[in-house]
Amino acid sequence: MTEHRYRPAKYDASRARYLDRRKRWICTHCGKAPSFGASRCEDCSKRAYERSEHVRGIPDWDPACTVIDSATGDKLGSWDRWEDAVLALSFEGVSLEDVELLSERSPMHAMAGWS
Ligand SMILES: [Zn+2]
Repeated sequence: MTEHRYRPAKYDASRARYLDRRKRWICTHCGKAPSFGASRCEDCSKRAYERSEHVRGIPDWDPACTVIDSATGDKLGSWDRWEDAVLALSFEGVSLEDVELLSERSPMHAMAGWS
């Protein structure tokens, strides 16, 4: 019994739900709002977009977040994603209360004119 064996069933279930919602023109994300044939409703796709803008980055961009020790001001590291930073900190045994998380926005990002 490996973890691998459990995955297909789980995948099938979520895929079936996805296809069912899609067929009924219901948002595959929240399952409530009409999607008008798209996979997600307007609210959800907007939310996903806004989140991805913060969390994900194109490789050329500066790291999405920098963690600074709030006591010493030392830079502890930079990560592309918040999740990675939080994971790394928990590995190091650093409490989130002892650090500052800075979101970096590169000039390129601003110039691209996202709207
Ligand atoms: Zn939705």
